[in-house]
Amino acid sequence: MNHISFARRLNGAGRPEETRDSWSKAGSPILVVEDNESILGLTRIVLERAGHEVHGVGDAESALEVVYSIHPRMILMDIQLPGMDGLELTRRLKADAATADIVILAVTAYAMEADQLEAREAGCDGHITKPLDVRTLPETVSAYLDGSSARGDSTGRNR
Ligand code: MN
Repeated sequence: MNHISFARRLNGAGRPEETRDSWSKAGSPILVVEDNESILGLTRIVLERAGHEVHGVGDAESALEVVYSIHPRMILMDIQLPGMDGLELTRRLKADAATADIVILAVTAYAMEADQLEAREAGCDGHITKPLDVRTLPETVSAYLDGSSARGDSTGRNR
């Protein structure tokens, strides 16, 4: 009897930690902002197959409409979007305390160093180049999800 209640107390005390840990595992909501429907569809299939809950939108304005309700753990951010581009959306999300902790990976067409630098300056946490490698995408996403706390601490951006 005693050991059961002790275990229960431990579980209760550990809950915030467990909740934080569970965010980094498969199943965390990922928002994909991508105006190319085939790329969006492919990305969704690959990430859902890896166990993630995936939401997809085709432009930055739609992303702003859903981001506060689903509060994704990560955003795969296409940089070239109709209307507001991915860099501007990233700046807005990183400037807002409610969304600053979302891991944002810039997705750009070319592996240009200038694009990567620009994405970093806008607040992106990482960078993926198109065409997406569907074999390594789940692994890349998991690595960023698992490492996001440590990197956030080192840059002082995490709460
Ligand atoms: Mn695009």
